[in-house]
Amino acid sequence: MRSLAAKLTLAFLLVGLTGSILVAAVIQQRTRLAFNRFVLDRDQQALVDNLLTYYQANGSWRGVGINLLAFLNSPAQFPGEDGDFRRNWERFTLADANQMVIASTQQSQTERQLSEHDLEQAIALVVDGQTVGWLVLSDVREWVPNRLESLFLTNINRAALLSALIAILLAFALGGFLAFGMTRSLRELTEATQALARGQLGQQVQVRSRDELGELAASFNQMSSDLERATQARRQMTADIAHDLRSPLSVLSGYAEALSDGKLPGSPEVYAILHQETLHLSRLVEDLRLLSLADAGELPLARQDISAQVLLERVAARHAVTAQQRSVTLNVQTAPHLPSINVDVERMAQVFDNLVSNAFRYTPPGGTIDLAATVLAASQGRPAAVQVQVRDSGAGIDPQDLPHIFDRFYRGDSARQSENESGLGLAIARSIVEAHGGAITAASSPGQGSVFTITIPAG
Ligand code: ADP
Repeated sequence: MRSLAAKLTLAFLLVGLTGSILVAAVIQQRTRLAFNRFVLDRDQQALVDNLLTYYQANGSWRGVGINLLAFLNSPAQFPGEDGDFRRNWERFTLADANQMVIASTQQSQTERQLSEHDLEQAIALVVDGQTVGWLVLSDVREWVPNRLESLFLTNINRAALLSALIAILLAFALGGFLAFGMTRSLRELTEATQALARGQLGQQVQVRSRDELGELAASFNQMSSDLERATQARRQMTADIAHDLRSPLSVLSGYAEALSDGKLPGSPEVYAILHQETLHLSRLVEDLRLLSLADAGELPLARQDISAQVLLERVAARHAVTAQQRSVTLNVQTAPHLPSINVDVERMAQVFDNLVSNAFRYTPPGGTIDLAATVLAASQGRPAAVQVQVRDSGAGIDPQDLPHIFDRFYRGDSARQSENESGLGLAIARSIVEAHGGAITAASSPGQGSVFTITIPAG
């Protein structure tokens, strides 16, 4: 049996079947017992009533012999009886008020006092509040139902059997319905997974419940959309890489062809252009290599302790000339007693160079770029950290671009694209910072400048 729904249905059916059989058996057993008790009580009461009527009619037990006793005990004397002869007790003994045996199925018992043992089970025969005699019934027989009683019991058994049958049918129908419903999500998931495996991305299934199956469906949906996004990003990235490699390569091949054909004479300017393009190419390749290493978690870091202040002052020194050329003020503001950070100095310098280069690009002359460092005290399980900010008073970042600027090959304003902008700068910055266990965020409002914040654990 290969279907889970069929297995579940069978399981429900088995449970229903066992339960019904058990209930039917218990009902049958209990009814028989209770009915047995009822019939005995009724017959016993009838005999007692017959004896009392006799006593009241005669004023004494006189004349009660064993034959009369047997007669009084006969089914014909019981109201409503069908005439079947039956006796529920093998022996019965009647004693008078003084507990002297008057009549008994055992002849030898007459003219004697009732024993202690007999008295314990004796029924007192009471007339007008006076005990006038004692009846002892013993050796109660296995009850054999008469025709009417058998009919009653058969009816009860039939009813129990019928309800068991209905319960089984219900268990089958309900079980099948439930099993089908429960496995529906699984079937949909299987179909969606197979479609995904065939390359049909973006599969989503309906989350039908809040149980484990619902959780599975929600996780599948999440995984499927992540996969679609990742595949889309990968395709986009491959296209971007091809595009970015193509421009310098076409420049190089154009110049090389012209030079080899003799159409273009070699000159220092031409060689400088060729050199520039190869540098651009190798930087692009190096950037991609760094990103793939970071993705694999294998970015080698030559960590050393350094003060954030020293790091920022070195960055500022490297960009001092550019700042002067562009008439932009470049400040370093660091809080006193900064703890040192344990970082790969070259890689972190690359991060800050990227941020400062971007800041220069978007800050007009007369603007300001601040490099600031503060310490974040340890709190709520978070260790102490050094927070470094690169703030500029430039154009700011469009709110639509802000969530994407750390994506690979994302360039905000296409109008301002230049050869040197690959759209990888911030992606690389984030990879390097995260490889150090830190985080980088950006905040900006257009026209108000931008703030890039890097948090590195103090160490
Ligand atoms: P690129 O190498 O093209 O500069 P980045 O990854 O460094 O790529 O930056 C991505 C985008 O983020 C840029 O195209 C630009 O739109 C935006 N950006 C980055 N830094 C700044 C800044 N300081 N001010 C305004 N926009 C910025």
